[in-house]
Amino acid sequence: MTDIKPILPPAELSVKQPLLIAGPCSAESEKQVLDTACQLAELGVKVFRAGVWKPRTMPGGFEGVGSVGLSWLRRVKQQTGMYVATEVATEQHIVEALDAGVDMLWIGARTTASPFAMQQIADALQGADVPVLVKNPVNPDLELWIGAMQRLYNAGVRRIAAVHRGFTSYEKHLYRNLPHWHIPIELRRRMPQIPIIGDPSHIGGRRELIAPLAQQALDLGFEGLIIESHCNPDAALSDAAQQVTPSMLREIMSQLVVREISQMTETLTELRRRIDGIDNQLLELLAERMRVSREIGAYKKAQNMPILQTQRYDEILHNRMAQAEALGVNPEFIKSVLQAIHEESVQQQVKL
Ligand code: PEP
Ligand code: MN
Repeated sequence: MTDIKPILPPAELSVKQPLLIAGPCSAESEKQVLDTACQLAELGVKVFRAGVWKPRTMPGGFEGVGSVGLSWLRRVKQQTGMYVATEVATEQHIVEALDAGVDMLWIGARTTASPFAMQQIADALQGADVPVLVKNPVNPDLELWIGAMQRLYNAGVRRIAAVHRGFTSYEKHLYRNLPHWHIPIELRRRMPQIPIIGDPSHIGGRRELIAPLAQQALDLGFEGLIIESHCNPDAALSDAAQQVTPSMLREIMSQLVVREISQMTETLTELRRRIDGIDNQLLELLAERMRVSREIGAYKKAQNMPILQTQRYDEILHNRMAQAEALGVNPEFIKSVLQAIHEESVQQQVKL
């Protein structure tokens, strides 16, 4: 996927400001859509979002107003000049949304998780030059996320961006969806050409968490944010707790710090060089440790001794964690590093 194109014309994208997509979780009425949109347009929001077909975990919830909402989006375009975006999950949605002049589509997290659905969507988009945002799948599976984008790419879609909206977890947490930041970071490493848009509304699930999560996304160099905003959030028919009024959104945006890549000073370059040197040493030491470990393995084998000697392992863990504490390094972190090293050492000895 080397020839990915920007999701908006380059003139609309600034290197200094992240792209801001905002709007209600769901289109509920023409008045709610237009009131919210007019206020957001004043803030300089480029793309207005509103779901007209809503995937709900349980049946019986508000499943969106359906096709009628598309005509409200058309009015938003006419009245405000903003681009408009909505979620699509089926071929029928795509046909209707494109017919109604929707400028940008997004694939919801539940849909990204389904390769059959993604393939049908890709087939329906064949030849359509429309930007598509692909939310991460509900489960923390980077391959599924990349696979969904790859299907679109194979169908000729070139304007693709990824949306990081967090991952479900069985246990209750501070967040509605756990961010697992390492997953979008790994996506960036594997596919640097794909822009990433942070969705702090769906990660946090609560208004107060939007600002810190948005800042974290910008600090990681994400190119944009998608934030749910409603003219009367407490009365929203979906995701009420995480929506903010346009004026709250203005406040949040004014507090965000956009760090410029060009701020990267020589100091940072020098510090990175030191990190590279330390990593090299770590790798060499690990290779050496594995060699010694294999020698021990060969000895145990010759003496007919078992590979796993738990008492020795307990001792190592205990001593090294105390050492870490004394050095001001988190002992739990060292424990997980040692566990990974030990596991690999055992594997090396088993293979002998
Ligand atoms: C949404 O954007 O309102 C939505 C349904 O999101 P997700 O697919 O991330 O749950
Ligand atoms: Mn929502």
